[in-house]
Amino acid sequence: VISVRDERKSYGSVEVLKGIDLDVHRGEVVAVIGPSGSGKTTMIRTLNAMEQIDGGDVLYRGEPVGYTRAADGSARPAPDRVLARTRARVGMVFQQFNLFPHQTVLENVTFAPDYLRVASRADTRALALELLAKVGMDAHADKYPHQLSGGQQQRVAIARALAMEPEVLLFDEPTSALDPELVDEVLRVMTELAAEGLTMVVVTHEMRFAREVADWVVFMDQGVIVEEGPAEEVFDRPREERTRRFLNRVQ
Ligand code: ATP
Repeated sequence: VISVRDERKSYGSVEVLKGIDLDVHRGEVVAVIGPSGSGKTTMIRTLNAMEQIDGGDVLYRGEPVGYTRAADGSARPAPDRVLARTRARVGMVFQQFNLFPHQTVLENVTFAPDYLRVASRADTRALALELLAKVGMDAHADKYPHQLSGGQQQRVAIARALAMEPEVLLFDEPTSALDPELVDEVLRVMTELAAEGLTMVVVTHEMRFAREVADWVVFMDQGVIVEEGPAEEVFDRPREERTRRFLNRVQ
């Protein structure tokens, strides 16, 4: 569904992504692991054009994400309506939840589908309640984000992302901002979504989750993919010394 080819990205003179190649297949859970500063967040944010790339290609169903290619090969930013369509198909869950603070839980979940008029208001409400039940938050539909724990807010954020019925859901360190005792309730929801066959790309420091839930694990360091493969191979039989050193440190 997503393919990345020789992707490059710099901030000023610092090259953060140095030629990334990655394929995400339908129904697959891809975990992206690696040390702090290796470019994981930047990379996942390019998959739905939250960040622009400087070179190479990021394709969703064969179409450039966030840019169009002119006949001479040069890239131009995509029109807003194309961008909105892509982001509806490739959703994102953030480290900091990013719920709208002045909207209730239910309003947070119905906002985007109502705004983009993907369905009638009655339908988006019914879907929102169904999704809130799925993440165990239907009893809190009328509360505001500040009345919820971090784990609850993140579960609402997941329901909000699902309300657009995305084909792919990106998670950028979804449990990193949570107190340790709240991590499992979010990972449980993500595990369930994975079991249902949702295509997911997850930047994570949770090695147990990556090992148990991911089909494919990508290890990034210093802007490149050092090693990738099935979870049990990368974790139990890493080929690269850099992978081994990282895993020894974090496991
Ligand atoms: P972490 O696990 O700590 O979140 P990461 O692997 O996700 O790290 P990135 O956040 O993608 O890494 O950052 C890669 C590099 O790019 C870092 O050196 C970071 O300082 C730099 N960087 C990220 N965003 C920006 C920005 N907006 N402007 C300048 N430099 C940036």
